[in-house]
Amino acid sequence: MHEMAIVQSVIDIVLQEMDRHGVEKLKAIHLAVGRMSAIVPEQMRMCFDILTADHKLAGAELNIRMVPVTYRCRNCDQEFTSEGITFKCPYCEGPDPDIIFGRELKIESIEVMDE
Ligand SMILES: [Zn+2]
Repeated sequence: MHEMAIVQSVIDIVLQEMDRHGVEKLKAIHLAVGRMSAIVPEQMRMCFDILTADHKLAGAELNIRMVPVTYRCRNCDQEFTSEGITFKCPYCEGPDPDIIFGRELKIESIEVMDE
């Protein structure tokens, strides 16, 4: 289950951020996950619960937003998104656009618990 390693690295980054800002408790973590990442949100949440039990992140909500794949055309440099795999630029019909976001995951924001 590769989610476990991914969630662990998210937790590490979040903990660093919390330290940096002197935050003790989080309400939620918002993630954006590319549609081509093969990440299963339910498994991510399950791993998060396991990894944060007995932890200062316990109880924080893991919010996962699936985002479309973002491409950049090699021919005209336009960026566009698609729900799936595409091989053609919608602007110039150029072939084989680069995927600039879609296989990865990013932390969009963390929500601090109000005192
Ligand atoms: Zn193009």
